Amino acid sequence: MLKIGCHLSASDGYLAMGKTAVRIGANTFAFFTRNPRGGAAKQIKEADAAAFLSLAKEEGLSMLVAHSPYTLNPCSSDAHLREFAKNTMRDDLVRMEYTPGNYYNFHPGCHTGQGAEAGISEVAELLNEILTPEQSTVVLIETMSGKGSEIGKTFQEIREILDRVERKEKVGVCLDTCHIWDAGYDVRDDLNGVLDEFDAVIGLSNLRAIHLNDSMNEKGAKKDRHAKIGEGKIGMEALVRVINHEKLHALPFILETPTDDDGHKIEIEKLKNTYTWKS
Ligand code: FE
Ligand code: FE
Ligand code: ZN
Repeated sequence: MLKIGCHLSASDGYLAMGKTAVRIGANTFAFFTRNPRGGAAKQIKEADAAAFLSLAKEEGLSMLVAHSPYTLNPCSSDAHLREFAKNTMRDDLVRMEYTPGNYYNFHPGCHTGQGAEAGISEVAELLNEILTPEQSTVVLIETMSGKGSEIGKTFQEIREILDRVERKEKVGVCLDTCHIWDAGYDVRDDLNGVLDEFDAVIGLSNLRAIHLNDSMNEKGAKKDRHAKIGEGKIGMEALVRVINHEKLHALPFILETPTDDDGHKIEIEKLKNTYTWKS
C-alpha cells in the first residue's frame, strides 16, 4: 500500500492531525514540532497523544515524518544560534517520544560564510551531542537545494555528515525531490542514475523518507520553490515514477506542495491511482 501524506497543522494537537489524515486519505503525515518559525513549543497533552496513538493503530497511520522548525541553523557561524538549534532539537526529540518509533527531519542549515566543511563538522557535532541510545526516533537529514550557503546540496555533503555521526542507527536521510532537482540532480529524466549515485555515495539503506514535491524552477536553479504535483518542471509522470520505483515504493512519501488539506486530498487520491505495487 502506498504510504502517503502531507504536512498537517499541529495547532490542535495529535488527535486532530490523525483525524485530518484519515479524512484526506493519508496514512502517514508530517507536522512541525513547534511553530515552524521557532520559539516555544506547546505543552503536549498526554491524553491527546494517547488518543492519537489508538487512532493511528486502528487506521494504520505510521512512519510519521515530523519536521524541525526551518528557522533553526545547526551550522551557523554564530555559536549562539547553533546552541539554540541544538537545545530545540534535543527538546523536540524528548517530545517525539510521545509518538514513538517515527522520524524527525531537519535541515542541516547554512554555513553562513564559514565554508561547507566547517558546516558539515558542526552538524555532525550537534547530532553527536543530542542523539541518545534510548531514543526511538530516527533523525533524518534532508537533502537541500543549495540556495544561499545551504549544506546538504550534494549527496557527498550528506555522506560526510553521516560519516562523523557516532550513533549511525539513529540517523538517516530524507530525499526532497524538489530540492535535489533544484540542486542539479535529474530526478525527472534520469531517476535510475540519481538513485545509483545516491546508493554509491550515501547508501540506499540510509534513505528513510521522501518529500514528494514538484518544482517551480529549472533543474539546478538552487531556488527551492515547491510546486503542486504535476504543475512544475518535474511533472506528474516523473513523480509517478518516483513512487513506483522498486527501490523507493515502500518509503513514506510526504507532500509539501503549496495547497491546503483539501488540495492535498486530491493529490493523494491521484497518486494512489497511479500506484501499481500491491501489498
Ligand atoms: Fe524541509
Ligand atoms: Fe522538504
Ligand atoms: Zn523546500
